[in-house]
Amino acid sequence: MIDYEGREGEAALIRRILGGETELYYQLVRPYQRMIYATAFSILRNEIDAEDVVQQTLLNGLAALRSFRAQSRISTWLTQIALNEARLRLRKARLHRFVSIEDITMTAREPIIVNLIEWKRIPSNALEREETRKSLMNAFESLPRIYREVFVLRDVEELSIAETAKVLGIREVNVKTRLHRARMKMRELIAGTLGLQLRWSVSKTTAIADCRIVWRECSNFIDDDVARILHTRITAHLRVCRRCKSVIAGVRNVVRLMGDPRVLRLPRGFRGRLRERLRSHIPMPQGRSAMRRPSRRRSKGSRVVAKQ
Ligand SMILES: [Zn+2]
Repeated sequence: MIDYEGREGEAALIRRILGGETELYYQLVRPYQRMIYATAFSILRNEIDAEDVVQQTLLNGLAALRSFRAQSRISTWLTQIALNEARLRLRKARLHRFVSIEDITMTAREPIIVNLIEWKRIPSNALEREETRKSLMNAFESLPRIYREVFVLRDVEELSIAETAKVLGIREVNVKTRLHRARMKMRELIAGTLGLQLRWSVSKTTAIADCRIVWRECSNFIDDDVARILHTRITAHLRVCRRCKSVIAGVRNVVRLMGDPRVLRLPRGFRGRLRERLRSHIPMPQGRSAMRRPSRRRSKGSRVVAKQ
């Protein structure tokens, strides 16, 4: 069995698909279904629409595969297609709907400084509970779209800052700013529903200037993307300031929880429907196993007979 893992493996797979073995396409895109879905969902906030965007994205991807340039990753390239497709649908939906779904703004709330000491200990097995996942998704869906996009690309799909900037067509500095706001907002929203809401009395001994730096650089700090001198200063501050320590822990927790595949998961039956749709558009050998483990021999007209 040929190993198609990694970029070189993918390049080999792409060559074969372009050479006519289109039945290998599902094998190429299979690892990226969830990330493409997350991208679409971050824009549309609707499972059915997002699923449809994934299917359309993968069909568009196959049609355009020849234009794929190997210097970017196939995952990033597909994400870009999904983003464009989802935005297109959003624009169309706006034309048809009286109330723009994009105009539902976040409920204005004063930032509450909450103590996340208890909340940060939420074990990841809490994600087994529907209620916990719902709270996370509600918080996520209440973010403005530009924050949802960047948050999903970075913290769910784990694209780099540079890749995220490229996919969104914005500058890296803007990615960082949006990401910071998205993460801070998520932390605040989740702390409100899942955490203990304890008002914090600001310690008089706290170096407020350093607190401000932590709050400003929090997102870059957890990404390990601050200058060494600033890193040292923040680290020193976190040793003495409980409030900032809990903010950092809370943001880290948001990133960890939302990156968990149990949260933004594929709807039931998703994979089967996707394979069906691809199969109806791409000439493929018959039989379920044919898509999963395509024959290495190019057999025109021969059928893979399922074992009974
Ligand atoms: Zn502080």
